[in-house]
Amino acid sequence: MIRELVVVSGKGGTGKTSITASFASLAQNSVLCDADVDAADLHLLMAPKVKKTTDFMGGCLAEIRKADCVECDRCRELCRFDAISEDYVVDAISCEGCGVCVDFCPEQAIDFPVQKCGEWFIAGTRFGPMVHARLGIAEENSGKLVSLVRQETRKLAEAGGYDLILTDGPPGIGCPVIASIGGATALAIIVEPTVSGLHDMRRVAELAVHFKVPGLVCVNKYDLNMEMTEKIEAYSLERNMTLLGRIPFDHVFTKAMIQGKNIVEHAPDSLAAQSIREVWAKIMKFPSMNTIGLKDFTAIIQ
Ligand code: SF4
Ligand code: SF4
Repeated sequence: MIRELVVVSGKGGTGKTSITASFASLAQNSVLCDADVDAADLHLLMAPKVKKTTDFMGGCLAEIRKADCVECDRCRELCRFDAISEDYVVDAISCEGCGVCVDFCPEQAIDFPVQKCGEWFIAGTRFGPMVHARLGIAEENSGKLVSLVRQETRKLAEAGGYDLILTDGPPGIGCPVIASIGGATALAIIVEPTVSGLHDMRRVAELAVHFKVPGLVCVNKYDLNMEMTEKIEAYSLERNMTLLGRIPFDHVFTKAMIQGKNIVEHAPDSLAAQSIREVWAKIMKFPSMNTIGLKDFTAIIQ
């Protein structure tokens, strides 16, 4: 059975990706998945060597064939996005791909081809295989691309006999995050001790409950605000979420990043690296993430 740990944060800037990269160096037999497709940066710490690139095809774009257009103006009247100019050229940025003009053009003079919205990659890293993606500028299909990247990671894990997927989830709580949570084994929620950190974490916790995925909470930079750290931990316990531990603020995170490394590789003896190892050990002991536990469970239900 393949387990998938999705690392989420509720907001950007919590250190989620640095921590995911550290987890990658501690995990065994795992495949990495960068599901933060809008601002993918896990690759900066992983230096992936791309083995395969595939186009990601997303929404459609209207294209008027001038030769067949009789300039009746019907499409311009119907387009709610004012995407068609007076000389019947569709503005690619304004066109939302709704297809109304295509359906109502009396001359069927409008093509509606599927557009390339980005690319996704299968790569090799020093910690094992990785699937990541790049969404085109101003493209809006990130939820769809997150689902695709997760599916492809799972296929790769199945084909290669890997039993763990480590997913760097998108920040926020919008469509991409929702696409990254469903079907996961557990969520590692990385929170920073601020009012907004707690606020955003609450929204992620609600999503975790909705998708019935256990939420495991880790406070990063905990020593910057002990009062908020305690509030976050109290809230987590109220919601029956497991506390993974605390990671201290440490400038060595930035130094490691500049070197293109994670903190466990760069400064293994630092307090932060030690805390991350303890957090990882706790994740691996969590029942649904524990392979031995899973085998026992399978034996019981058979
Ligand atoms: S509805 Fe069709 S025929 Fe009429 S102006 Fe638009 S593209 Fe041309
Ligand atoms: S597909 Fe929709 S948004 Fe695009 S030009 Fe046609 S009516 Fe406008």
